[in-house]
Amino acid sequence: MTDQIVMFAMKQSSWGQRRPIQWVPLELQISNMRMKNVNIIRKEDLRNVDMLNGDLALSEPMLNDFLQVKHSLGELIYYHLPGLDKFVIIHPLSLVNILRSFVTDEQFFPVDQNLNSILQNLIKTGIINKTDLLQLWQQDHFHQYMQNDSSKEFVILLLQHLDILINLKRSKQTHVYLVPCVIKTVRPSNFHYVENQKENTICMRYTIARHSIPTSLAYQIVGALTCTWPLKYEDKQPYLYHKAAWFNVSDENELRIWIEGNHIIVMLTNDLALLYVMDVAASVQNVLQRILSRPFCSIITALEQISQKKYQSCTMEVGVPCGHNVCYTSLQNVIMNEKWICGQKMNHDTRYLRYWVFSKGKNNVVST
Ligand SMILES: [Zn+2]
Repeated sequence: MTDQIVMFAMKQSSWGQRRPIQWVPLELQISNMRMKNVNIIRKEDLRNVDMLNGDLALSEPMLNDFLQVKHSLGELIYYHLPGLDKFVIIHPLSLVNILRSFVTDEQFFPVDQNLNSILQNLIKTGIINKTDLLQLWQQDHFHQYMQNDSSKEFVILLLQHLDILINLKRSKQTHVYLVPCVIKTVRPSNFHYVENQKENTICMRYTIARHSIPTSLAYQIVGALTCTWPLKYEDKQPYLYHKAAWFNVSDENELRIWIEGNHIIVMLTNDLALLYVMDVAASVQNVLQRILSRPFCSIITALEQISQKKYQSCTMEVGVPCGHNVCYTSLQNVIMNEKWICGQKMNHDTRYLRYWVFSKGKNNVVST
């Protein structure tokens, strides 16, 4: 029995790590709460519990350190960020169970017709409104995790912080969320076809120096773009697919984006002529660059630490439809030359490709 307890203790993430003696009473109190099925607790309530420890009670900075170290060990969930620092999830598994309320397989959908149709609509469109989400959380078995409105508001904020829910700020309806991870529909095979619009289309491709773009990062990209531009719709159905989306940037300009392997590919088409895409292209590139810099930086830093090698974070190329494919070239080539001859011996004009980085009026590079 003793051996088993020692073995169990050694498997714990905090085994062998030195920690302040003052942490011990609060650790025991949290452990007791877990046994009593307390899952999410207000930080203020946790502080009040800790105050009972008299001389061993933690000061506010010490309590923050305690929570952040425990978070890093995976023992609880606590983000010391405005809006998120009011609650502590002392049982991390409860977040997984909350997620199951809407990220779940059809066979586990509730029998209740109303709740069932909410989930059916979610997997069809990838979108859920807050009222429907709260209805799902009214089911009895979710009450143990979120017992009041403030804990539900906290979980919604946390899910947004984790990019599981994307707040569609562009929507006229308030509190509408995109849930990229539930979108399973594969983009149609003709998603990137531009047969009749080859002359009106320019492309851009980002390539990351690893074999594939992590799914979570793909969700972040699609989610962030969906906040920026309105999706294209047909029969009330958004053009939203697994790692791909189609946007109506403006009346004449359509933007397609898809993530394939280690590439992020963007296609911009103007209904009339490429002459009119200058400002739109520059703003598309600008927004994408801004979106990509944050997650790419963290991934590349992690890769560099693991391999102790320096990676170029990501490369950007621009291109034009050519035959059934797209011919890409470097931005530098486009800026330096009026034309370039591709692998198919075709002569491509570089004029409109500069629009990705030049904006009207400024006549200078927006960003690269
Ligand atoms: Zn070509």
